[in-house]
Amino acid sequence: MTQKNSRRDFIKKTAILSAGLIATNTFGISNTNAFTPKEKQFKLPRLAYDYNALEPHIDALTMEIHHSKHHQGYVNKLNKALEVLPVDLANKLNLDKCDLNSILSHIKHLPTSIRNNAGGHYNHSLYWELMNPKGGGLPTGDLNKRIIAEFGSFEAFKNEFSTAAKTQFGSGWTWLIETEGKLVITSTANQDNPLMVVPEVEKNGTPILALDVWEHAYYLKNQNNRSDYINAWFNLIDWDVANKKLA
Ligand code: MN
Repeated sequence: MTQKNSRRDFIKKTAILSAGLIATNTFGISNTNAFTPKEKQFKLPRLAYDYNALEPHIDALTMEIHHSKHHQGYVNKLNKALEVLPVDLANKLNLDKCDLNSILSHIKHLPTSIRNNAGGHYNHSLYWELMNPKGGGLPTGDLNKRIIAEFGSFEAFKNEFSTAAKTQFGSGWTWLIETEGKLVITSTANQDNPLMVVPEVEKNGTPILALDVWEHAYYLKNQNNRSDYINAWFNLIDWDVANKKLA
């Protein structure tokens, strides 16, 4: 086959494949592998602060390993898992736009490797964003008013959130979410999150706060003492960022 013919053949095949995508609306019917070019892969987000900037609350080594090893690992494994998805499914998920929300909203149709690693990527991105060396103190703006109105006081909210984080068994996350106009505290196991509609996630909603309670988030500094880590994290919350997550 000449190069020209081969190119024409490729264009023809692509056209047939695209037509098929528009005609069908189901998951996983094609066995053709998705093509995910390097420049369209998910990337580790840069932190807005240095690894040592959150000390003494979270130490530099924990931050470095957490971001450059753990989070990078989720990103790498997510990209790898997406490479072998059928092309029609990849298109449905807006993979060409690296749309993480779209992946999470369809998570029940996707393999566990994508659930774990897309969750890991989303959760950690939010966790970094919601911390600030100049954070802590009391909530701001509408979120402050809502917390006082719905939990009674900031202290009551902090107690309820801390208890949820302390009592999450094993690895997971504790969240403040907004759902049906209400603020709710909830926890998820592993790298699940409140955007995933799966039986294991008890409450769905928009994440406002995200606290990683995996041991890798605190073990180097706090060893088994998760309570100290939770208290330390409250000194880092960027309430202005959290406030912007409200609908
Ligand atoms: Mn983590």
